[in-house]
Parts: sequence; C-alpha cells; structure tokens
Amino acid sequence: MRKDYSLPAAQVPVHQPATVSAAERALLKDEIRDRLAALDAVLVAHYYVDGDIQDLAQETGGCVADSLEMARFGRDHPASTLVVAGVRFMGETAKILSPDKRVLMPTLSAECSLDIGCPPDEFEAFTQAHPERTVVVYANTSVRVKALADWVVTSSVGLRIIESLAARGEPILWAPDKHLGAYIQRATGADMLLWSGACVVHEEFKFQALKDLMAVYPDAAVLAHPESPAAVLDIADRVGSTSQIIQASRELPHDTFIVATDRGIFHQLRKHSPDKRFIEAPTAGDGATCRSCAHCPWMAMNELRTLAESLQREDSEVLVAPALGAKAMAPLKRMLDFPPP
Ligand code: SF4
Repeated sequence: MRKDYSLPAAQVPVHQPATVSAAERALLKDEIRDRLAALDAVLVAHYYVDGDIQDLAQETGGCVADSLEMARFGRDHPASTLVVAGVRFMGETAKILSPDKRVLMPTLSAECSLDIGCPPDEFEAFTQAHPERTVVVYANTSVRVKALADWVVTSSVGLRIIESLAARGEPILWAPDKHLGAYIQRATGADMLLWSGACVVHEEFKFQALKDLMAVYPDAAVLAHPESPAAVLDIADRVGSTSQIIQASRELPHDTFIVATDRGIFHQLRKHSPDKRFIEAPTAGDGATCRSCAHCPWMAMNELRTLAESLQREDSEVLVAPALGAKAMAPLKRMLDFPPP
C-alpha cells in the first residue's frame, strides 16, 4: 500500500486571528488602500480569507475569486505589483504567470496541507515509476511539483480536462488530493493513479453528522467542495469549486443551504444572497479531530493587520527561480488555454 500523505493533527498549526475593534478595522483598511495606491498594487483575494480583506479587494479594483480566476486576473491586470491574499501556492502561481511583476503576500507562512503533503522529491520518484502516464496535478502544489506535470488543474476545470484526456485514452497520474482525484475518477471513468494527500479542512466533513443535519433541515440543499470525502459528495445536491458553489447558491430555488467547504466562503454567499440561509456542514461526529473546524488555519493567517504591516515592510515577496517558473508555466498555460464549456 502506498504512503498516506494526509497531515496528522499535530502538524496543523493553530491560528487564532486577533480581535480587532471596528474603529481599528476602519483605520487598517484606509492604511491598506493608501499602500496599494502608493505601490501601484492590486489586491487579489481568495474566497476563504477574512471578509474585510475580500471587501477591500472588491472596493479597490481587485478581485475575490477561486484560484483559477485569481491567476487569470493577476496575469491580465496592468498593476506592477500583485498582492495575493491566500496561501503560498497562489502567490507562486501568480509569480509564475507574471514573472515581471512583483508579488507580495500578507505572510509567506500561509501554506496548504495538500502542498505540504506532496514533497517534490517523492513525487518525482512517483512520476518516474509511471512514465507511461500523463501527469495532472492540482494547483495546490509547489512550483517544483507543477514543473513535473503535463497539466495543472483547479477544481473548477479539473473534471473537464481529465474527461478530455480520458477520451484520448491517456492513463493519468493524479496528485495530490485523493478525494478530488477519486471524485473525478468516478465521474469520468478515467484510468487514474492517485497520490494520497488531503485537505485538512474538507476531509473533516462527516457523512453521518451531515445526514442528521439534513433531517433537521429537510428543505435545504447541500453544496459540497470535491475535496470532501466521497460519502459526503454522494449525498450533496451540487458538487463544485468555490465559484461553482456560489453560483449554485444563486441558481437553486432553495432558501436554505448546508455548505461543505471552508466557512470563509460564507461572506460572499451572504453578500450574493442576503435573504437565503447558509449553514456550515458538520465537522463533528465519529472520528472527528477538528484539525481546522471548517476554517483553514493558513487562510486565517491573512489578517487585516498582517496585510497592513507587510505592505509597509514590503518584505513578504514571493520569489520563483526563473528557469523553474518557466517549466511550471507550460502545464499552467495548458489549463488557462483549455476552452471554456
Ligand atoms: S482549505 Fe485545504 S486546500 Fe485550501 S489552502 Fe487550506 S488546506 Fe489547502
């Protein structure tokens, strides 16, 4: 049996965001606005980060998006500096796609359990053991792992890309998320050999506790991210990426939704549909460890004060060796060039 690359609870940091008064939040937001203008910078934020940072990104001409759209937006925006509020692989992706721009982050300590759970040397050995397979990796990986891939995909396009590879008869080597990989395998019937990493947030959602919650809210629709376990996905009304979850919440006629993804997304869900009710899918129940309690500890490191201070110091710059970045660019570009549905 292959090694399990899920992170044990002891390796997951505990991050408790600081409590900030309304007055201080307003001051910090003004300070960040001023620094963005002074640095010719645009703020690109993920749906899982602090709601104030999401609002700032939208108010200052940046964007709040999933990792695919963050990458596209940063590449196409004319600002000379990109400020990426998210986790490190997102900053690295921005730098790969825009090598001539400066990429800053609130902190370089914001990692991802999938990225950590895919060490490049071990992954390279895995690819060398299966040279006949097309290597497809999730965006939640290091630059070195991306540079070993034929394709990089995000959860919003992964299924369609693998469907097209399977239609050409290509056997696939997939990494790192085992739940997303298994979901795509079931949906497409593709021949996929899976790495065994996991997201510490989504892996916590519990089937039985979710069934119990559905019995309490029988009219609710369940929306789930495909990094969740198969038993949870099997009973969801819609499975999709963060942007697809937001889209489903707007399109479906339901008034109540149970949502199995990081709770940072509730900020946009409630902004888009203020009259609808959104409930967190449970992470308690049998086998619960609550390594994250449905909020990514690394995404939580993106705090207003951290962002303001890092923009003053300009010291959290993402650097990617140019030759390695150029190698990682090719599989990323294939994804960005893949035709829309
Ligand atoms: S939510 Fe999961 S996949 Fe996303 S950055 Fe955190 S650990 Fe990684």
